[in-house]
Amino acid sequence: MRRHKTTKPMRRCIACRESKPQDELIRFVLKGQDPVVDISGRAEGRGFYLCRSAECIKTAVKRKAFNRVCKRNLDEKEINSLIGQLSDSYQGGMDVKES
Ligand SMILES: [Zn+2]
Repeated sequence: MRRHKTTKPMRRCIACRESKPQDELIRFVLKGQDPVVDISGRAEGRGFYLCRSAECIKTAVKRKAFNRVCKRNLDEKEINSLIGQLSDSYQGGMDVKES
C-alpha cells in the first residue's frame, strides 16, 4: 500500500513567482526545446508552470520568461502560437488575446 501525502504539491509560476497548488496553474512541458501546453498535467518531460490568469501570461511574455525556461529565444510567432494553445485549451476561462 502506498501512502499519500495530504498536502497538494506546490509549484511556482514563472511570471509572478508565487507558489500555488499545482491544480491552480497551467502546466507546460518542453518537447525538445518547444514549450507546449500540457492539459493533462501529466505529460512527460521538463515542466514549468504559469497561473491561469491573463495577467501572468502577459507578464511571462513581457519578461521573456518563456525564453528563460526554454533556454533559447522564442520568436513572436512561437509565443503567439503558445498563447493560442492556451486560449483553445481554457476557453471561457481565459482571455489572453491582446486588447
Ligand atoms: Zn503567476
